[in-house]
Amino acid sequence: MTSTPNPIRKIRPPLARELAEAAAVETGACIRPLAVRRIDTTTGARQVIPLPCGSTRAAKCPSCAERSRRLRMWQAHEGWHLDTEPEIVTAEPTAEQLAVIGYRADLEAARAAALAENDAAGVADLECAITDADDMLRAAGARGSSRPPGERKPRRTRSTRRRQDAPNLPRLPIANRTVGRTFETPDGRTYRPSTFLTLTLPSYGRVYSDGSPVDPDAYDYRRAARDAIHFGDLVDRLWQNLRRAAGWNVQYFAAVEPQRRGAPHLHAAVRGTIPRKLLRQVAAATYHQVWWPAHDEPIYSPDRPPVWDETLDGPAYVDPDIGRPLCTWDDTLDQLGADKTAPPAHVVRFGTQVDIQGVLGDTEQAGQCLRYLVKYLTKSLDECHEPDSPSATVHVDRLAEALRFEPCSPTCANWLLYGVAPDNAKAGLVPGLCKGKAHKRANLGYGGRRCLVSRKWSGRNLTEHRTERRDHVLRTLGVVGAAVQQATPDGDRERYLWQPIRPSDPDQPDRLELVLRLISERKRWRQQYERARDQAAAELPAADDHDAA
Ligand SMILES: [Zn+2]
Ligand SMILES: [Zn+2]
Repeated sequence: MTSTPNPIRKIRPPLARELAEAAAVETGACIRPLAVRRIDTTTGARQVIPLPCGSTRAAKCPSCAERSRRLRMWQAHEGWHLDTEPEIVTAEPTAEQLAVIGYRADLEAARAAALAENDAAGVADLECAITDADDMLRAAGARGSSRPPGERKPRRTRSTRRRQDAPNLPRLPIANRTVGRTFETPDGRTYRPSTFLTLTLPSYGRVYSDGSPVDPDAYDYRRAARDAIHFGDLVDRLWQNLRRAAGWNVQYFAAVEPQRRGAPHLHAAVRGTIPRKLLRQVAAATYHQVWWPAHDEPIYSPDRPPVWDETLDGPAYVDPDIGRPLCTWDDTLDQLGADKTAPPAHVVRFGTQVDIQGVLGDTEQAGQCLRYLVKYLTKSLDECHEPDSPSATVHVDRLAEALRFEPCSPTCANWLLYGVAPDNAKAGLVPGLCKGKAHKRANLGYGGRRCLVSRKWSGRNLTEHRTERRDHVLRTLGVVGAAVQQATPDGDRERYLWQPIRPSDPDQPDRLELVLRLISERKRWRQQYERARDQAAAELPAADDHDAA
């Protein structure tokens, strides 16, 4: 590094908040906790308790993101070489989950009110807060979607579903088995290997090592954008095909991350082994057909898109010149379904690069694969590889531009450019400004979840895995009898009521103070843990310290 400090620049005294955040990161405490009020129904005592935000992104909260990364690594480890069928038990919601669900419901009500008042800025703010609350819920280990059922549209099945052609692969009945085969050597030793699988998307044009194309004008940005948008569906199809071809209920823990060229790819820990030839065959034969209206040639330009006409019988988007309403989404799909010769709007497949490793449990190789698997989970897709040359920066810009005008979903505003009214069309849709996750630069076209875990991976959800790790620490602490303060002592759950503290609440505690409290709790906890661990080291066989930080 050759940069020299600028002597003229004044050194600003660090703000208390920045200092506290730095200290929080140092100790692994959350930097943006949520305040919850706990009411003791026996004594009437009220106490404000800071709950960690639970973000999975280091840019939002490095401490929570790091904890979540370690927890994911633990979860991946727990299911990878399982040798007995996992039992699925659903845990009761914890006090923490209930508090966040209450908070989320409040935000939802506020959002509905803001919508009714046409307060677009308020709606946007509340939607951010709802996404954050969902992060917290996920971190608290809740399964499934917390969106109210009314917001989840039933999946359209007619005319699109049956057109997914069957790939040319073996189709076996799927046995109710999730555990891999055991192999025995002639000298009687047994092995139960598992698999580490990496799949990529096809080439869109040759690229240099910085990810930028050799010939930018020939690089197929449109295909790259569409493949990224539909990557999640392709991966779903892979697991379906794999289970049918292998004939058992194959389980996986997978992570989606970008390559330098900006295309998503998939790393997966798969339990058990599948013949390499079959795996390659499944990867090569798997594809996903997108039965959307054709959208290769725009009919309208972003400068003069269709307009919303309130004067019609049923308000609709109409042609800006002649005022004729656009064809609705459902009608367009019906026409498409009736035309047996119409090709799909897009077909996405994997590329030819398939990497398969056989991995034995609790080996150095297994550890390496697990670390690799969770390495980028704390970063958004565009942060994983910062462009390190001007041409790489231009490349990411061009990809983002292609993604800006690609339809991301049936409700996407970009359909207007292709003369189709988006599904569920409402006033205010602007092509190029769709809020869909796929268009966000941070996602590079992939709007799905980054960590994909099959249902019977370990038989436990994240909360249960977290409890497991905490129990390990408590056991270690128990060796020296250290008193540990838990937010809710076990067996005392009914005694406490939890209430979210809303931003308008006069009791809203000082954020800084909450962070400082978390820091001191964290420090105390770590000291106790380290003391206990040192003492235990002499008495117990090597205890692992997954939850030490
Ligand atoms: Zn946090
Ligand atoms: Zn969109």
